[in-house]
Amino acid sequence: MIADVVRLFIPNSALNYNHLVVCPDSRKAAIVDPFNADLLFNFANEQNLEVEQIWITHEHPDHIKDLTPLQRLTNAHVYAPETCRGKFDADTWLKDNQTITLGNCAISHLLTPGHTPGHGIFWQRDHWAIFGDTVFNAGIGNTKSGDATELYHTVQRLKHLMTDTVKVYTGHDYIETNLKFTLQQKPNLESAARLLEQVSQQTPDTRLISNWAQEKEINLFLNAPDREAFIELRALRDKW
Ligand SMILES: [Zn+2]
Repeated sequence: MIADVVRLFIPNSALNYNHLVVCPDSRKAAIVDPFNADLLFNFANEQNLEVEQIWITHEHPDHIKDLTPLQRLTNAHVYAPETCRGKFDADTWLKDNQTITLGNCAISHLLTPGHTPGHGIFWQRDHWAIFGDTVFNAGIGNTKSGDATELYHTVQRLKHLMTDTVKVYTGHDYIETNLKFTLQQKPNLESAARLLEQVSQQTPDTRLISNWAQEKEINLFLNAPDREAFIELRALRDKW
């Protein structure tokens, strides 16, 4: 069964998005990268959701800030990439391609190193993916505590796995800044100019949710011809 994904904007300086993944049959939910336990817990209660699981993409403080309080509030089972072991506490350390069962939904986890050595994403093939800080709209995660070559190889793998219809859920609301960078690099990229016009009318709460087909058009990092070009682009974005 295909799960619903609900995106909640967290009004902090890092512009985080938190996500709830919901089995529509059982109303069982998983909360991804909890920043604000009260906000998430109250939302789940209002929506009559049973928070059964917490999923973590990586160990950066803005992705695990309220892990402990949310666990106390919900008694939920914590899943995290096995490559994050030792950075925080989890109940199940996930391997690459491991499946998680949430109600009647089967969700896959992939190890996606690069932004940090330990990073994972959660997805249902052809439908949606929660990329954490691996892929952003019109961008990718930084590699200040990771490795750009590793992130390049992760992105190549994702390009093989993702299909056009996959909805792209990211850890932060960076689309406007990233599109401005895109247009500085490629001033004639009309699809990026059109999209920037569209998203500049939106708020972080109403921001469009892109799909993989759109990202292939506007995300320069997905289109970098080789490893060197990818690393060069990452360095340019760091300095921008
Ligand atoms: Zn991060």
